[in-house]
Amino acid sequence: MERKRIALVAHDARKKDLIAWLGANIGTLDGHAFWTTGTTGKLVREAHPELEVTLLKSGPLGGDQQIGAMIAEARIDMLVFFVDPMTAQPHDVDVKALTRLATLYNIPLACNEATADMIISSPLFSSGYRPRPADFQGYEGRRV
Ligand code: PGA
Repeated sequence: MERKRIALVAHDARKKDLIAWLGANIGTLDGHAFWTTGTTGKLVREAHPELEVTLLKSGPLGGDQQIGAMIAEARIDMLVFFVDPMTAQPHDVDVKALTRLATLYNIPLACNEATADMIISSPLFSSGYRPRPADFQGYEGRRV
């Protein structure tokens, strides 16, 4: 099995759904390494003590940005971020920054269960698949 480094985040209204999703897929997910925002991580640990989980700060206190930094440093292979599209978030800018970095660095990003299911059931999930690395040469070499 190719060990993936997976970041998990869920907004409050979606935390139960994330825990249920992990439970439904524990056989596939056990053995991978997880990083989570603080409150999400506490619940994940309580529900699934068998998973190897590293807790970061709570999302609104900087945890989303910590995960974003890990993505920018190529230390995360996949982001599962169950967002609540019905509630305004006080840290909306952090949410946007995190999903933007996942997009920019071309890592798989699941914002709901259906996408997360598709990703983990793909043959690519258990293979040595490496996404095309993001190419910033043009940007970095620009003269302004
Ligand atoms: P939390 O953060 O896991 O600490 O609640 C989630 C979020 O970013 O909203």
